[in-house]
Amino acid sequence: MVNISMQKNIKNEELLNRIRISYPKINFKPSQRFLFHPPNTVAYNLTDDNFPILILHELGHALIGINSFETDIERIKIEVSAWEKARELAQKFAVPFDDDFAENNLDSYRNWFHSKSICKKCGQTRYQTPDRQYHCPNCDPF
Ligand SMILES: [Zn+2]
Ligand SMILES: [Zn+2]
Repeated sequence: MVNISMQKNIKNEELLNRIRISYPKINFKPSQRFLFHPPNTVAYNLTDDNFPILILHELGHALIGINSFETDIERIKIEVSAWEKARELAQKFAVPFDDDFAENNLDSYRNWFHSKSICKKCGQTRYQTPDRQYHCPNCDPF
């Protein structure tokens, strides 16, 4: 008897094998969480319910090749690109792509960014300079 979670793991493993064959230059390593380690390592968790979409997202990071960012806005742009790439990859590997899942993930970045950029003193949206410091147009002297 093969239970449902084993069946799912077999399906995930089958997808992982197809991905490995298509991208032999990328290292895939089992881990607790999904993560892209530049330049070419993707960490994955085979037992995660969202394995297909998450591995394609991290593979997206590996394939777009932009890993550095100076500002948080740039970081969000990289996340958007990685999700766009994941959508293409989902077609390529015939895996369903869950737009809501991708949007929710991006929203958590946007919320994080929003709370970071709001000035605690006056509520204005602050701007970030390449040294990663935030500045409030109202409160900070130029
Ligand atoms: Zn990401
Ligand atoms: Zn302020």
